[in-house]
Amino acid sequence: MNRSLILGSIVATGVIAACAMAPQSADSAAPAASASAMADIPTTPMDTPPPGYKPSTGPGLPGVSPIEHVKGQVYKIFGGGGNTTVFVMDNGVALVDTKLPNNGQAILDEVRKVTDKPVTMVINTHSHPDHVGSNQFFKDQRPTVEVVAQANSAARMAQASGPFPANPATKSFETKTSLGAGKDKIDLYYYGPGHTDGDAFVVFTNDKVMAAGDIMAWSMAPLIDPGSGGSAIGAADTLMKAAAGIKGVDTVVEGHGYIQPWSRFVEFAHFNRALADETRKVNAAGGTPKDVVDHLVDSGKWATYLKDHTLTGLEYGSTGQNRALINAIVGLQELRGEKPVTIMNLKPEDAYKR
Ligand SMILES: [Zn+2]
Repeated sequence: MNRSLILGSIVATGVIAACAMAPQSADSAAPAASASAMADIPTTPMDTPPPGYKPSTGPGLPGVSPIEHVKGQVYKIFGGGGNTTVFVMDNGVALVDTKLPNNGQAILDEVRKVTDKPVTMVINTHSHPDHVGSNQFFKDQRPTVEVVAQANSAARMAQASGPFPANPATKSFETKTSLGAGKDKIDLYYYGPGHTDGDAFVVFTNDKVMAAGDIMAWSMAPLIDPGSGGSAIGAADTLMKAAAGIKGVDTVVEGHGYIQPWSRFVEFAHFNRALADETRKVNAAGGTPKDVVDHLVDSGKWATYLKDHTLTGLEYGSTGQNRALINAIVGLQELRGEKPVTIMNLKPEDAYKR
């Protein structure tokens, strides 16, 4: 599937397949994520492509990259859509997200580098086609494979979406559930709308690793898909609840992009809190979305999430500053009672400029 078809399908169906490349320059220090808190945590440095990263060679998306060890039983596979997190259990393998369609064999080839165990479970962080697209491959391999999602996502996955077929879940949860036991225990949490209205946080308790889904991707303000129930204002509440409510995690796998320390996730929640709070203030004062980003940039606190350079190969959403601007636009629409729209990319004339 080429890039124009993918993006055309995404636009046509009103869903987001957020994929991006790595930014280019050195990252600035984060205020809340201190060096000591981040010591000894295996992270992909900000602005550095994931190990083994394969840039796209044509109009397509970046390819499925070699499997990376995150920690303990947890691995990550970048490319071909969202990150796939791999969890090797006693009697099988659980995958968190399965990328765009037609990546199943490539995912399995990477899993086979670390284990011969069968894929027995797929957990989807949300319903977008770049996260559920190759579910069917694993069902075809093993008809008893469990497919788990939050209930709102499960409802969307039960329906075809444009060119993307239905991917029904076999098990869903509302706000919290646990799967497995002992070192194979997986906790699933839901705290409300953000990227969509069904964003699950997936925690591998023994290894203290969380797969965050697209509410945290590329360390930029999350793309908001109101067409799938997402909310810019809600995302801040959801992230803050997750940061306060989820215990015992030290490592976070983003929905796309990086591996981060928990301290970065907490800081990212606070950034989204600041973005939503500033949107409320600007709404009350009768200002514009650009005012929101201006105030955040001027505060000097959030440089990690407000980069002003275009990320190499980014399909849409451009810079961190523009992603924040998109969320300010959507947030103001929500606060003003207008129908919020899914904005995949800004027109150059609408982009944030100083
Ligand atoms: Zn998504």
